[in-house]
Amino acid sequence: MTLVYQSTRDAHNTVTASQAILQGLASDGGLFTPTTYPRVDLDFALLKDASYQEVAKLVLSAFLDDFTPEELDYCINNAYDDKFDTPEIAPLVKLNGQYNLELFRGSTIAFKDMALSILPYLMTTAAKKHGLENEIVILTATSGDTGKAAMAGFADVAGTQIIVFYPRDGVSKVQELQMTTQTGRNTHVVAIDGNFDDAQTDVKRMFNDSDLRDKLAAHKLQFSSANSMNIGRLVPQIVYYVWAYAQLVKAGDIHAGDEINFTVPTGNFGNILAAFYAKQIGLPVGKLICASNDNNVLTDFFTTGTYDKKRAFKVTTSPSMDILVSSNLERLIFHLVGNGAEKTKELMEALLEKGEYSLTDADAAILDLFAAGFATEEQTAAEIKRVYEENDYIEDPHTAVASAVYKAYKEETGDSRPTVIVSTASPYKFPVVAVEAVTGKTGLSDFEALENLHDLSGVAYPQAVDGLETAPVLHDTVVATADMQKAVEDYLQV
Ligand SMILES: *Cc1c(COP(=O)(O)O)cnc(C)c1O
Repeated sequence: MTLVYQSTRDAHNTVTASQAILQGLASDGGLFTPTTYPRVDLDFALLKDASYQEVAKLVLSAFLDDFTPEELDYCINNAYDDKFDTPEIAPLVKLNGQYNLELFRGSTIAFKDMALSILPYLMTTAAKKHGLENEIVILTATSGDTGKAAMAGFADVAGTQIIVFYPRDGVSKVQELQMTTQTGRNTHVVAIDGNFDDAQTDVKRMFNDSDLRDKLAAHKLQFSSANSMNIGRLVPQIVYYVWAYAQLVKAGDIHAGDEINFTVPTGNFGNILAAFYAKQIGLPVGKLICASNDNNVLTDFFTTGTYDKKRAFKVTTSPSMDILVSSNLERLIFHLVGNGAEKTKELMEALLEKGEYSLTDADAAILDLFAAGFATEEQTAAEIKRVYEENDYIEDPHTAVASAVYKAYKEETGDSRPTVIVSTASPYKFPVVAVEAVTGKTGLSDFEALENLHDLSGVAYPQAVDGLETAPVLHDTVVATADMQKAVEDYLQV
């Protein structure tokens, strides 16, 4: 039987995995979501010795069950290859009191690579399956990391175009240069005078704009999404939760069946949602600790049941988590209300119209799986320093948010289960913040900080930053939020 993916806003809108990947977002504005879970044989006596690619095959074949084994092999082998700087793909590092799961060893040194290195292959394979003739236009809003990782994945992939919008003042210099120096004849990068939510809101609007859709179709083009709303992003992220658990079994630090916690630095709620799905297929998860920065809308949601986005947007040192509307939370809401499409639609419309909604009658077992907390800017910097002093290991600010939230959680609850800090970026991506936190040095340029970081950590420069300073800038368009659609139409000549 083929797994059904249903729109979170319409029970009648159901598709298969490959169709969901091609469509990206449901045309009713909802997100395609599994309503039942596949059976996966999580036999850790075997999985502890499996390669990352083998774990990926197990998980992907369960969730993407209308792909053939050969198709999945093709996608997996092209994605998880030497673009990653270690054959382990996602090493688990044991530190004092915690494990850090390094999801930043791919080509753009942030965890988005885990899914975006495979998405183009899943998408073009799905297109072939369905005899699609239109060119696929990937439209993406990024808070910094998705954009680059998506472009790295899609650059020069035949039959695709990619357009990325990022908030002009909301990303680090290294992040910006990574994007604006992107090569590939099919890549387009646009800075907007607005924040990430502005960019994401208008991208969603364009996806749902039927006039625009028709205009594209007339030119044999169609949108798809590389954002974490696409299940082709979500499913590959389930893999590393299973993988991390297998590594703990392999190390002899846990026995198969023992519960472990994951602390996830959260923005759009995609990463932690993948952990939720890992739990649904039987991974022994204790708590999923949702870590936020000063944009702590999710902390408030989990503690009060009310999601209220009416608050000041704060630019922090962990920009990929500077988000007030966490798109993927819609999927959890859908599950929390008993897979109720009508209720989910009502709540999401309330969010759009009133800026808030409150959950009543939520599934208590699901809610109980989550804990939540946030770290201030000071706490985040102090955590980078603490981890460095105790372990000689430098966390990036996003990882440090999670690490700090976990430390507070552990002190408060006494929960002593082994805990994995999901480590989402290399400190080389945020060198100024990392070096300032460790040394107290201020006023460093990004490139001075890179050198300092190299000296402090002894970690070799990743390819992603090597030569970045002198790479030619190929994209310099800036538009007002209101002109995003015009930019799209110009690029596509429609
Ligand atoms: C995207 C990102 C996050 C947030 O992940 P979500 O899936 O959006 O919750 C956290 N850290 C880094 C470095 C990221 O790039």
